[in-house]
Amino acid sequence: MKRKVLSIIIPCFNEEECLPLFYKEMKNIQNKFNEQNIDFEYIFVDDGSQDNTLNIIKNLKNDDDIIHYISFSKNFGKEAAMYAGLKKATGDYIALMDADLQHPPKLLIEMYDNIIKEHYDIVVAKRKDRKGEPIIRSFFSKVFYKLISKISKDKIVLGETDYRLMTRQVVEAMLSMPEYNRYSKGLFSYLGFNTKSISYDNVKRVAGQSKWSFWKLLIYAFDAIIGFSTVPLMIATFLGILFCFISFIMILIIIFKTIIFGDPVNGWLSLVCIIFFVSSIQLFCLGICSAYISKIYLETKNRPLYIIKESDKKKEEVKIL
Ligand code: UDP
Ligand code: MG
Repeated sequence: MKRKVLSIIIPCFNEEECLPLFYKEMKNIQNKFNEQNIDFEYIFVDDGSQDNTLNIIKNLKNDDDIIHYISFSKNFGKEAAMYAGLKKATGDYIALMDADLQHPPKLLIEMYDNIIKEHYDIVVAKRKDRKGEPIIRSFFSKVFYKLISKISKDKIVLGETDYRLMTRQVVEAMLSMPEYNRYSKGLFSYLGFNTKSISYDNVKRVAGQSKWSFWKLLIYAFDAIIGFSTVPLMIATFLGILFCFISFIMILIIIFKTIIFGDPVNGWLSLVCIIFFVSSIQLFCLGICSAYISKIYLETKNRPLYIIKESDKKKEEVKIL
């Protein structure tokens, strides 16, 4: 029987402390898979790390030729790194995993079983809770998921992580969407396919620090909303109708007041407040439109998602995107 190959894609940004621990832990799982005639292939994507990450990957590769790597010319972000990994992977099944062991390797066995025995196309790992995370981060992420699930057609579920195992068919479908503004969770949901979600207890990062600051996450969430919903664009129309209605009522009130009480000249302060209020609403709506325009602008430039500086392939094979 032909041996199947499982590709493991690991985006890495300054993960020198985690990588040796990750690789050691993965080897235990790999042995279990090897016994079932399934080979592994590791694709490490160095997302412009400034520490020793790339050298560690190269050292691992020297001892193990199932390791492959791509190194970016600068930090292009996890989304670009995942796309690059999917592009390079050659396996029949492909998994996306973080380098910090927050995605428990032993879950892979259950995920694989679900694909083989239950015939799912994608198995996604879902955190049961966010224990150990700052309260404010958990709060905002809950708000974000509630909001996006209301205003987006694609189902984006609270707690679902980027830890996924999928078939080659899913990967090919994903690669057919090389858009610049990427939000993988939304893109996977857009793709459809039979998806199974497996819950697991949240695990703390094994070493090093999270690369996501609060602001980085806020911008990421904002991009996701712009990328997966056009509802914000309707806010301008909605507010326009609302304010038209309010001003109509106000005109009626003024007409009646003038008829009954005459027309004393006062109320300039309230007028100034109204002007300020309405113009701030206009600027807010203009801001929403600009956010969409900026995304169109970036998309039409058609720039590569990432630039490869080095990879384990021969130099002439190293291509952009
Ligand atoms: N990562 C990356 N590029 C980035 C940020 C993160 O490749 O710009 C990688 C990182 O090395 C890790 C994974 O994405 O393997 C998840 O990052 P992190 O643990 O910092 O995120 P968190 O778990 O806190 O959401
Ligand atoms: Mg992490």
